[in-house]
Amino acid sequence: MIFPLAQWLQAPYMLGAAALVALALLLLYLWLRRPRGGAQPVSSQVGMSAHDPRDEITQPLPVTIRPRVNTLSSATVRAAARTDKGRSRPINEDDTLLAELADSEGRIRTGLYAVADGMGGHDQGEVASRTAIEATIDALQVHPFFAESVYLEDSFSDNEVLDVLRDAMASANKAVYGVRVEQGSNLGTTLVLALVLRSKAYIANVGDSRAYLIRHGEARQLTEDHSLVERMVATGQITRAEARLHPQRNLILRSLGSDPHIDVDLFVEHLQPGDRLLLCSDGLTGMLADDKLSHLASAEPDLDKACRMLVRAANEAGGTDNISVVLAKVLDTDGHE
Ligand code: MN
Repeated sequence: MIFPLAQWLQAPYMLGAAALVALALLLLYLWLRRPRGGAQPVSSQVGMSAHDPRDEITQPLPVTIRPRVNTLSSATVRAAARTDKGRSRPINEDDTLLAELADSEGRIRTGLYAVADGMGGHDQGEVASRTAIEATIDALQVHPFFAESVYLEDSFSDNEVLDVLRDAMASANKAVYGVRVEQGSNLGTTLVLALVLRSKAYIANVGDSRAYLIRHGEARQLTEDHSLVERMVATGQITRAEARLHPQRNLILRSLGSDPHIDVDLFVEHLQPGDRLLLCSDGLTGMLADDKLSHLASAEPDLDKACRMLVRAANEAGGTDNISVVLAKVLDTDGHE
């Protein structure tokens, strides 16, 4: 039974059809092998060494964190925090943040610290301060800057670091403003942030919570209060002593949540081993004179204990407001004071 195939092949029109199929297959083959511009598959970049075992290290690495130990220009840090309702407020509307990144030796090279003092009544202040703290850490921890800052110390300029802090404050403001609009309330919060990195403190502030640098037992206020009394002192209407007793001393002129846009004060401070950084709410500074604050924040070596002592002193002086403190100690690159 050979005739059907022979007959089929011999049919003159089938030769033409077979030639067309062959041509189509050739064109398809050439199309599949066409040179491509733009992105090449990774294997073609390796080219001639495609089967070389060293390819594994020539492939682009996924983003991994590699410890860099020899960073003499950078400080390490240790910190503690405490927040307290005080003696006359029914609830605590303050909040604090301690977020730290350690290197492979367990030394903390990046510390993010914050104090927020919420306001709004009917428990709303508590919501405002917590919202601000959570939004801040959310904004910063997804930023490659924060996640990798322990190992990429030289990669960012001071201005870039400050821009990141300003953006984090802006997201915190947006979050608090969103809650305020949603609830139709008048909640708001202060927020003071300190990022310790590369032997510097980067500070961002809105409101009347404060950051102090404590060096050789002396506390120096780094931030400026956005308060009515501070403005009255600046224009000479009242003295600083009068400001402490002014009936409107709690009135602040700038807070997170009051407006969709926010002006943020930014500061950079060089740190030395032995320095301390104190963030606190006005429940501390309204109760303690500067010399007492300086002494309590600097004398006690144990930071947890120092925080407890500061809070206790503010309570003993009246405790008329919520009291929050974050106290950080700057160590040298090897973790020594
Ligand atoms: Mn307060």
